[in-house]
Amino acid sequence: MTSPDVLVVGAGAAGLFAAIHAGRNGASVLALDGARSLGAKILVAGGGRCNVTHDFVDEASYAGSSPNAIRKVLRRFDVSDTVEFFAEYGVTLKREDTGKLFPTTDRARTVLDALLRAAEEVGVVIKFPRRVEAIGHREESFVVSGEWGEVTAPRLILATGGQALPKSGSDGLGYEFARTLGHSVGDQIHPALVPLILPGDHPFRELSGIAVPARLVLRSGTGKILKTFFDDLLFTHFGLSGPCALDISRYWRAALIDDPGTRLEMNLFPEHTEATFDKVLLDSPHATPLAHLKAELPERLCRVLCDMAGLDPSARLGQLPREARKALVRTCITAPLGVEGDRGFTHAEVTMGGVPLKEIRLETMESRVRPGLQLIGEILDVDGRIGGYNFQWAWASGFIAGSARID
Ligand SMILES: Cc1cc2nc3c(=O)[nH]c(=O)nc-3n(C[C@H](O)[C@H](O)[C@H](O)COP(=O)(O)OP(=O)(O)OC[C@H]3O[C@@H](n4cnc5c(N)ncnc54)[C@H](O)[C@@H]3O)c2cc1C
Repeated sequence: MTSPDVLVVGAGAAGLFAAIHAGRNGASVLALDGARSLGAKILVAGGGRCNVTHDFVDEASYAGSSPNAIRKVLRRFDVSDTVEFFAEYGVTLKREDTGKLFPTTDRARTVLDALLRAAEEVGVVIKFPRRVEAIGHREESFVVSGEWGEVTAPRLILATGGQALPKSGSDGLGYEFARTLGHSVGDQIHPALVPLILPGDHPFRELSGIAVPARLVLRSGTGKILKTFFDDLLFTHFGLSGPCALDISRYWRAALIDDPGTRLEMNLFPEHTEATFDKVLLDSPHATPLAHLKAELPERLCRVLCDMAGLDPSARLGQLPREARKALVRTCITAPLGVEGDRGFTHAEVTMGGVPLKEIRLETMESRVRPGLQLIGEILDVDGRIGGYNFQWAWASGFIAGSARID
């Protein structure tokens, strides 16, 4: 097939979904992907179980473009549509306590197989490895080429993803295509849902493997709270991971662009403020700091906290000098973490930044600057929280693009 009705570049979650729905509409569809094997991200997602979507999805769980624009896309293909689509191909989804939806098989492979079967059923042709190296325009058609040759099509769906996990095939070249075709991709393309790095000598690095529920608070240089997340926080040999750290990482990075004074604080007793936690300590004069903290936190972490506060873990709380007690309070409730950086695209789950939705007609996902071009999935300036939100974005934007009638 060298001149299909619809040419999809990138056969990941969004591209496959768009191809399926364009095929269902009766179009001849060719999808090209540069990877040696298809669906790498679907297969590794959710620890190999693929967190397909979330029980409750709305624009509040996303960042990037305007919430209004994100909502318009999400409501065209919602969670029940996702559940129904996969059920049609024999993949039943189950809801876990966190609200995340996974296939009952607990195998990402069943999700990818369902997508490939759906594509085959409507005659979508998928060619890989076919890395696209250039996209141009000749007469009324897009011309897409690589070492393998050239294909032309009147309609092009760009679904090349972002830059997260580049070895999966999404290495950011798609942004160049978008620029060449007339779109503005901001220069703020950064890893998101990415682990955070603490200084080499930070005592938390000794706590590798410990996970606790915690609140991370992002503050501006002036002390204003910009964002908070409460979830599991995992200490690692390099710093912090787990959903709490991953969720806040993009907000930390975004705030830092304009305000170098931005800082991240950790509250290990999220039901407390400094004042209420201090009162609790004052009310237990006979307890030791270690015994008190150990009631809620792992002992290794408690010892590090006492050490950071500069106090003897086995002293009586009632005998501690006021300043020492206050230091413990700050260490547990408002300690700035001194995050130095993030682990980069290789360890990120998604990309912050991309083509802004204001350059897209949201009824069809068609470009406002280049008729016949549609953009979907992670290449757009939309990134979601941990929990299935990013796939839901891929399904919704892919559905709209694939089922749109474009002349
Ligand atoms: C480790 C990991 C775990 C994740 N887990 C989850 C999860 O459980 N739930 C969730 O919702 N989200 C998860 N995500 C995020 C989710 O995988 C992505 O948001 C989603 O896959 C984006 O879909 P996409 O189709 O836009 O891009 P991608 O899935 O990245 O697909 C883009 C495709 O385009 C191809 N491509 C790129 N450039 C070219 C080119 N020049 N020529 C040809 N082909 C090209 C690539 O090979 C790739 O197949 C995870 C991500 C990672 C990295």
